[in-house]
Amino acid sequence: MRFLITSQIMVRYSILGSGSSGNSYIFSDGSDALLVDNGFSRAELMRRIESQGFDYSTIRAVFVTHLHPDHARGVGTIARKDGLCVFTSGRCQECEYEKLGIPQDQCRIIEFGDAVSIGSFLIRSFPTSHDSTGSSGYYISCPQASFTIVTDTGVFDQEMVQLARQSDVLFLESNYDSQMLKTGPYPYPLKKRIDGPRGHLSNTQAEEFLNQCGFFAALTGENKSEICYNSSKYRISKVFLVHLSDTNNSVSLLEKRFQWMGSVITVCPKGATLSGSIGDQ
Ligand SMILES: [Zn+2]
Ligand SMILES: [Zn+2]
Repeated sequence: MRFLITSQIMVRYSILGSGSSGNSYIFSDGSDALLVDNGFSRAELMRRIESQGFDYSTIRAVFVTHLHPDHARGVGTIARKDGLCVFTSGRCQECEYEKLGIPQDQCRIIEFGDAVSIGSFLIRSFPTSHDSTGSSGYYISCPQASFTIVTDTGVFDQEMVQLARQSDVLFLESNYDSQMLKTGPYPYPLKKRIDGPRGHLSNTQAEEFLNQCGFFAALTGENKSEICYNSSKYRISKVFLVHLSDTNNSVSLLEKRFQWMGSVITVCPKGATLSGSIGDQ
């Protein structure tokens, strides 16, 4: 169906930051934009948004994956100052909204499996497995493109894989290298939390996720070099590995590990901003 659409509208997106220092994503069709998470001060968020060429005043709503500070510490401020509605799953606790200073009358519930429309975007939420009640991921679609955000989850399930397969762009957590975590400086309980079922996705789990999305390394050519093989029935054309740990992961390690995926994959260093677009220019 998507090949029949000849829209003139370009959809732009940006990872405004990912990792423990602050997470945020923006999606814009030119007239309306939506934000997923805000772990930054309002001034820093605005600086990042403007540096990527987006118009802050077009943001219509904020969707929050969960209420850990690196994802939500700046949500209350922008809700109050800019009058934005804040969507979370219905299972997030009310006292947490208060702590974050999110006005009650601007809180909106998006139940798992439900869809909310904002401008030309349709946003659907799904549960993640994290130590924050009501944590969720998002599938965002519009006529030109679709996106899936899977971060802050200790395990992945088939719903996440199915939604990712239907997306043009996948933002996938690749938080830690198991060996680096095991031998690294973190105290044992924290190590257990991170690699537990309600922690974060490891590099190995991210690779497994990508395999289930149809990506495999295949040997080809005379010197049998590895290339990326994507079973063509799936749609993903771009994967960003996000939410990297500073201590238990490294960009170069990931780039080496996923070299076989070529230009399909981009590793997003902690704190970095990366942008892209889909559709007619
Ligand atoms: Zn978290
Ligand atoms: Zn996080």
